[in-house]
Amino acid sequence: MITGKTAVAGVTGNPIHHSLSPILHNAWLAAAGIDGVYVGFDPGAYGFERLVNGFRGGAVRGINVTLPFKEEALRLADEATEAARRAGAANVLLFPPTGRVLADNTDGLGLLRAFEVQAPNWSADRGPVTVLGAGGAARGAVAALLLAGAPQVWVVNRTVQKAEAIARALGPKVKPLPLPHAVGALRDSTAVINATSAGVGPGGGLDLPLETTPDGCVVMDMFYKPVVTPFLEQARGLGRPIVDGLEMLIGQAAPSFEAFFGRWPPAEVDVRKLALEATGQ
Ligand code: NDP
Repeated sequence: MITGKTAVAGVTGNPIHHSLSPILHNAWLAAAGIDGVYVGFDPGAYGFERLVNGFRGGAVRGINVTLPFKEEALRLADEATEAARRAGAANVLLFPPTGRVLADNTDGLGLLRAFEVQAPNWSADRGPVTVLGAGGAARGAVAALLLAGAPQVWVVNRTVQKAEAIARALGPKVKPLPLPHAVGALRDSTAVINATSAGVGPGGGLDLPLETTPDGCVVMDMFYKPVVTPFLEQARGLGRPIVDGLEMLIGQAAPSFEAFFGRWPPAEVDVRKLALEATGQ
């Protein structure tokens, strides 16, 4: 039951109405017996900055932030964790009673958690990793992979200058490459992560020679609609282990839930099944 004491958190982005996050968080809240609710906030015509300023002081405990506001979320915050600063973006904003806005980034944790669950034999320190894309998601992934011990991270992007900017920000283990030279990165990678917003795979926006990756190279796609994307289908056809973006979404949601509601989500709820049902898969 919603009461006068109900704790409120939510998610914002544009578009926001099809977000799966409310399904995950509300299932966890119900199972944990917490008097809380998690909803979608559409910034509408007044925009993201006004929405954030309206929440200062704690009317809402915190929000997740998704496309296209993650970089702006970091800029608007008064304080940021190292994870958010290194990623150059925030997917969590917290609104303590002090009126300050705190930024965090749990996407990197979500990415690593997805690998732990779906490719448990892989570890970041085993060799080079290729990240496709150089937007906010890619930069967060590179920061998390370096922290987890990756000896080298190739950043392969259509606009190579953006990959070079990530290398300047995150150090000499990051190697930028233009997209047409992707094969130079793929052939020695232990994992390939799609962090572009283009469709990848046969008939998609990117057509990559995935067959040049070594046997056992783990292929991950952050995009999760559908959960098994054409890129992951292609990888599976080549016998490569795959990791999907839905597991990453769940992986970033769990530490967000803890930040909003003060405890780790209960393990007994199968939120992956609920998310798949909600999307008809
Ligand atoms: P950005 O808009 O910041 O970056 C998009 C990237 O995709 C850029 O590197 C861009 O290249 C590249 N790109 C777009 N279209 C093409 C194309 N046709 N050919 C080649 N490259 C292209 O997006 P984000 O980094 O925020 O997000 C990227 C993806 O990751 C999205 O699909 C998002 O939904 C997903 N994501 C999933 C999460 C999860 O939990 N599963 C979490 C975060 C993100 P260029 O620089 O040349 O323009």
